[in-house]
Amino acid sequence: MKETIYTIPVNEAFEDNCDCPLCRLYKKVEADEIDKILGAAMMEPDIRIKTNKQGFCDKHFPMMFEGKNRLSLALMLESHLNLLNENIFNKTTGLMGKTDYKKQTEIIENQQNSCYICSRIDYYMEKFCETICFLFRTEIAFQDKMRNQKMYCLKHYRQLLVIAKQRLSKSDYEAFAKMIFQTEKEYIATLCDDVSWFCKKFDYRYQNEPWKNSKDAIQRSIHTLTSKKID
Ligand SMILES: [Zn+2]
Ligand SMILES: [Zn+2]
Repeated sequence: MKETIYTIPVNEAFEDNCDCPLCRLYKKVEADEIDKILGAAMMEPDIRIKTNKQGFCDKHFPMMFEGKNRLSLALMLESHLNLLNENIFNKTTGLMGKTDYKKQTEIIENQQNSCYICSRIDYYMEKFCETICFLFRTEIAFQDKMRNQKMYCLKHYRQLLVIAKQRLSKSDYEAFAKMIFQTEKEYIATLCDDVSWFCKKFDYRYQNEPWKNSKDAIQRSIHTLTSKKID
């Protein structure tokens, strides 16, 4: 692996250390993908084949709805619904009028776990993680940026460990894992303290004590646990 189109966004995300750098990359790619799909991409036949099949999840349909390109969305829905109608209802009805309801539940379950935008983002997130491993191995300056990180959400902490295991040599993996583990361990310890202090502040004996760093402890906990940012 050499320098790629992913190097610049990864480096940029690691310049900052306000929260999970991978969540920031996620957000950027998500916004780009929503923009693209509501633009020309929606009309490209090979992309339409994918959106017809994959559909969108309960997070990304509303984001597309907010995107204000209602005609693009309606055209995509038209062909997606036609395909669903064919697969769920027409194809599960036999010649003798016998309907395979079990098959219907399977198709619907698969559909509900599938999203075109999520699958695009998953692809990019994997590339970003591979790039992080590559930069860790090849650039001292990037290691410093990593050391400077404050936290990773648990989902991305896990993903980094998984991909580093696949991509790095045994010794590099050990060093990489140790570095992010140190960051994560310290952060979770602080988070536990902050949440405890937040609870204490509801006790009248602590009423006049300062909040310290606990004011947003609940928001930060939810972000760490679910990757979802609450402002
Ligand atoms: Zn994250
Ligand atoms: Zn989605």
